[in-house]
Amino acid sequence: MPPPSFDWPTLIANKDREIARLEAAYVAGLEGAGVKIVRSRAVLEGAHDVRLLDGGAAIRARHVLIATGARPANGSIPGIEHVISSNEAFHLPEFPSRILIQGGGYIAVEFACIFAGLGADVTLIYRGENILRGFDDEVRSHLRVELEKTGIRILTGRTVAAVEKRATGMRSQLSDGRAIETDRVMFAIGRRPNVASFGLEAAGIKLAENGGIAVDGYSLTSAPNVYAIGDVTNRVNLTPVAIREGHAFADSAFGKKACRFDSSNCRTGVFSGREFGPVALRGLKAGPNTFAAAA
Ligand SMILES: Cc1cc2nc3c(=O)[nH]c(=O)nc-3n(C[C@H](O)[C@H](O)[C@H](O)COP(=O)(O)OP(=O)(O)OC[C@H]3O[C@@H](n4cnc5c(N)ncnc54)[C@H](O)[C@@H]3O)c2cc1C
Repeated sequence: MPPPSFDWPTLIANKDREIARLEAAYVAGLEGAGVKIVRSRAVLEGAHDVRLLDGGAAIRARHVLIATGARPANGSIPGIEHVISSNEAFHLPEFPSRILIQGGGYIAVEFACIFAGLGADVTLIYRGENILRGFDDEVRSHLRVELEKTGIRILTGRTVAAVEKRATGMRSQLSDGRAIETDRVMFAIGRRPNVASFGLEAAGIKLAENGGIAVDGYSLTSAPNVYAIGDVTNRVNLTPVAIREGHAFADSAFGKKACRFDSSNCRTGVFSGREFGPVALRGLKAGPNTFAAAA
C-alpha cells in the first residue's frame, strides 16, 4: 500500500463543494417551510424596523431575532496585517509547510493538529503556563506531551510581539527575544461578538459585561420582542447551543409556550488527534419546558 498523501487544492475544492451542498440543503429546507431569504447585510433603525443595506428596502417586523455571530479578535501588534485567523485558514492558495499558531484554546489546538496531521511543521505559542486553560490540569499536561510526540512544538509563557513579511516567509518576533520564520502565522486568541455598526443603540438594545448582547433566560434583549441567540450573546458559543436557543425562541414567540434553553449540562469536545471532553454533569436542572442537550 502506498503511503497516504493529500493535495491541498483538492482538499480546498472538496471543502468548498461540501459547504455548497450543505448550504443548498439548508436553503431548500427553509424555502420549503415558507421562509423568504434576503441576502443582504442589515441594520436596525428601531426595535421593529430593519433596513437592508443592499437596495435600501425597509422591513417592519413584530419579532426580531439577532444572530450575527462573532469574529476573531487578533489584537494589534506590528505586522498584524500579515496574520490570518481560522476564517482564512481553509482559503489559503498554498499549503503552509511551516506555520506558527498563537493561542491555547480549542481552535488553536484543533488547527495545530490539522496542519501537523497534514505534514506541516507546527509551532504553537501560548502566553499562559499550559494550553487549554479551564480544562482538567492532568488532561492538559497529558495532551501537551501527546501533541509534542506528534511533532508539534509548544512554547508557553510567551507571545508574538511582531510579525514581519520577508522574501522567505513570515518572521515572528517573540516576547522572549527569539524569532521564528514560517510560511504563515495564524492567531486564535479569542473571538468578539458582532455587535457594532448595525443599529443596536437605535433599537434600545443593551450590551452585557461579556461584550455580547444582554439577554434574559428566554434570549429576550432589553427591547420588547427583540431576541438574540448564538455567539452574539457570548454565552456558550457552540453550534448546537445556538440551534437550541433558536428553537426555544421559536417556541416562546410563536408556539405559545414560554421555553428557555438551559446550557448548564452542555458538554464540549476538543478535536486534538487525541480527542477528549469533560463528561461530569454539573447537576441536572431540566424542567418540562427546558432543553437539556449535549453539545
Ligand atoms: C474555528 C472554529 C471551530 C468551531 N468548532 C466548533 C465545533 O466543533 N462545534 C461547535 O458546536 N461549535 C464550533 N464552533 C463555534 C460555532 O461555529 C459557533 O458557535 C456558531 O457558528 C454560532 O452560530 P451563530 O449563528 O451565532 O453565528 P455565525 O455562525 O457566526 O453566523 C452569524 C451570521 O450572521 C451574519 N451577519 C453578521 N452581521 C450581519 C448583519 N449586520 N446583517 C446580516 N447578516 C449579518 C454573518 O455573516 C454570519 O453569516 C467553532 C467556531 C470556530 C471559529
